[in-house]
Amino acid sequence: MDYGKKGVRKKKKLLNSATKKIGTKAGVTAFKILLICVVTFIVGGSCVVLGMVKGIIDTAPEITTIDVSPSGYATKIYDNGGGEVQSLVASGSNRVSKNIDEIPLILQHAFVAIEDERFYEHNGIDIKGIFRAASIAVTSLDFSEGASTITQQLLKNNVFNAYNESTAEKFKRKIQEQYLAIKLETYMDKDMILQNYLNSINLGNGYLGVEAAANGYFNKDVSELTISESAVIASITQNPTGYNPVKHAEDNQKRQTKVLSNMLAQGYITQEQFDEAIADDVYSRIQDIHQEDSSTYSYFTDELINQLTDDLVSQKGYTEAQASNLIYKGGLSIYSTQDSTMQDIANSVVNDPSRYPVSTQFSISYALSVKNAEGQITNYSQQTLQKYFQTTGGQANFMLTYTNEEKARADVAEYQAAVVGEGDTIVGEPSLSLTLQPQISFTLMDQHTGFVKVIIGGRGEKTGSRTLNRATGTSRQPGSAMKPIAVYGPALDMNAITLATPIDDAPYYYSGAEAQLVTDYDKKYLGLTTVRDAIAWSRNVPAVKVLTSITPQVGFNYALKFGLSTLISQKNAINGYSDVVQSLALGGITKGVTNIDMTAAYAAIANKGTYTKPIYYTQVYDHDGNLLLDNTVPETHEVLKETSAWLLNEAMQSVVTDPQGTGKAAKLSNQPVSGKSGTTNFDGDKWFCAFTPYYTASIWIGYDDNSKLPSTTEYSHVAIWQAIMSQIHADLPTGTYEQPKGIVQLQVCSQSGKLAVPGLCDSDPRGSKIITEYFAEDNQPTETCDVHKRITICNVSEQIASPYCTSTTTKVVIKKATANVLNPTDAAKYTVLDEDKAYCVTDAFLSALCTIHNKAATTPAATQPATTAATTAATTAATTAATTAATTAATKKPVTR
Ligand SMILES: [Zn+2]
Ligand SMILES: [Zn+2]
Repeated sequence: MDYGKKGVRKKKKLLNSATKKIGTKAGVTAFKILLICVVTFIVGGSCVVLGMVKGIIDTAPEITTIDVSPSGYATKIYDNGGGEVQSLVASGSNRVSKNIDEIPLILQHAFVAIEDERFYEHNGIDIKGIFRAASIAVTSLDFSEGASTITQQLLKNNVFNAYNESTAEKFKRKIQEQYLAIKLETYMDKDMILQNYLNSINLGNGYLGVEAAANGYFNKDVSELTISESAVIASITQNPTGYNPVKHAEDNQKRQTKVLSNMLAQGYITQEQFDEAIADDVYSRIQDIHQEDSSTYSYFTDELINQLTDDLVSQKGYTEAQASNLIYKGGLSIYSTQDSTMQDIANSVVNDPSRYPVSTQFSISYALSVKNAEGQITNYSQQTLQKYFQTTGGQANFMLTYTNEEKARADVAEYQAAVVGEGDTIVGEPSLSLTLQPQISFTLMDQHTGFVKVIIGGRGEKTGSRTLNRATGTSRQPGSAMKPIAVYGPALDMNAITLATPIDDAPYYYSGAEAQLVTDYDKKYLGLTTVRDAIAWSRNVPAVKVLTSITPQVGFNYALKFGLSTLISQKNAINGYSDVVQSLALGGITKGVTNIDMTAAYAAIANKGTYTKPIYYTQVYDHDGNLLLDNTVPETHEVLKETSAWLLNEAMQSVVTDPQGTGKAAKLSNQPVSGKSGTTNFDGDKWFCAFTPYYTASIWIGYDDNSKLPSTTEYSHVAIWQAIMSQIHADLPTGTYEQPKGIVQLQVCSQSGKLAVPGLCDSDPRGSKIITEYFAEDNQPTETCDVHKRITICNVSEQIASPYCTSTTTKVVIKKATANVLNPTDAAKYTVLDEDKAYCVTDAFLSALCTIHNKAATTPAATQPATTAATTAATTAATTAATTAATTAATKKPVTR
């Protein structure tokens, strides 16, 4: 054959000439063949599909009424010693079944309107809905429109508790679900289906069923729900966490509006009812009070359930509803990391009244629904009570924090009497609960394993399950506790500073248009301060200066690596505000941080720079004893080099050991303690985050409403931390931190951070400035001190002496760049105590000689001493100073002494 170019060209030509003729004929034939193929494929395919579907249907579970009604096994939680700490049950506290007659129509319709609008017409599956979802998926590639009917959802939640569902299994389940939905509708009426559905759905906060949700969110019986309240509850189903009306009120509200619009469009409510429901400020009275129950879950269990739900969804592909069903009804055995002994110690210290002022403070939570003669219901809460006393009551500063329970109850009674008028009836029980203030949170974890041992989400009696958890669910401003995470850890890690680097604690302004002054609680500036001292004494200017030098973005990136999950990046800025700002150095951030995140971040410092994701359980077994989840190998990543973490740890020990350290009260008799305090601007939050060689723990104290805390002497959170940790460590041998390779110890000058010059750095008028400090080998100083200068000044002019000055004094000073100064407004406001000032000179001062005793002004008689002077130390010093070669001269040979 001819494979040459010529041959190919010839063939092409031949083909082209024949194309048209053959094309028509071949096209018809090809079409016929294609048609036959398609028909064969469809018929054959359909047979295969039908066969498959038949097989799937044949293996579908047999269902009975019992299958779809709420039931299940209790789940047990064991502590790290194997003792049972909690039993999770589906019935009782979080599930109360109601007959369909007791569930108001308006609530039934709210669910139908949002979840399955053709519920009353279809036979179990919604063909119209399926086509609609498919066409939306095809045209807009949006696959979010589900077509799962209420009947299907009921089956999915109650019959198919499938673990580890693969795509094939999911496909199989969907087919079975549709088949069973049709079958179920043949022998169960719509009301019974809806009743079972409404009694078993997950409505967030651990509430299963509408009665539990009505109780939990509105403190009333399901029969008393209003239209707006019904719509809130119906909104939750699709995503019980995302639409939780307590934690995500805004998102729930968006969906609630959709529910109400659907109800209006589908004719369940009138325009008037719609408008009224939209206008109702339902979220202000939503509460999170659970019915009193002997099996109230601990804060630890609450968080464990959150983690387990997340893991079942992310690792096992469950929906939240399935995960929730499994947790409450699946009969699981959960091995938690909680240490009951430690938890008990922490509980008793935190709840010891002697640690708080004698006059107990508490905030009130109040809910009242009143029905008037026309049947309209109005709701009242502590917010409306506060407004009443502030306006009608004429007490502009009326606060909801009380010290006297009788007074609180009297106020509530007075308010109640004022709002319940003639012919009004109170719906349900008015509720009043008292919460101790200020509140507290405490978490403790083992930095080596990531095992969380203790969680305290508040003090006082915990009256409900899945309630506000201040340790894991509340973000508060961290203040200076942020410094090691966003400033000093990163700067040490980047070799941008050493522990001996002197930072000038002097008036300093944030950059930008606002240019606010960086201040400290004592309104003082200490002058040159080493990084170690700046950490121990929690100085603000050095922290802001160091963050500025490494850039806020770098500090922010490190904070993310430290696991802080509530930070706001520039991309996700809220109203233009992100946490990539200079004030990040002082913990001035958008949302704040959670206690557990702080503990995990500090644990990374304790654990040689390696972060370990906190875990709450090690293993979970299913009802048949199969291992469902294994958490024993923790997720870790490096944040800091081992040497940087060790150096930071060193400095953080000074916070506790330094006589002026801010964490002195945390000292333990048998363990080194490394930590950092944190207090926010307006004393709204106080933190202490610290670790020993064994455990890392953080404590936070503050008012739930962000009020200012009284003075530290009244509330010593550091002392509470110490009291818990001293008991936990009582029988543990003294721990140590192994010094890693690559650390050196040197004598340096604290004013320059450079190698000390004997005879000069130790001759500082305030005492020797030579210190011994640790350095990373690759970041150790190699130059000698260039800050200390020995100078001779003229006693007449107080300038650097010239050879003609007759009366001079020699002294050691420090050379500082032009000091930062206050602007005039601030100068009037702040007294700056510049501790360096008397000992500082500038380059300009050093380069100018005495202007009084120059040659021209000198009498002939005076030239003689000048010659003598030239051989003296004075001249040498003055000359060297003027030529800025002082360092070399001083290093080689101290001039005097
Ligand atoms: Zn020096
Ligand atoms: Zn002079």
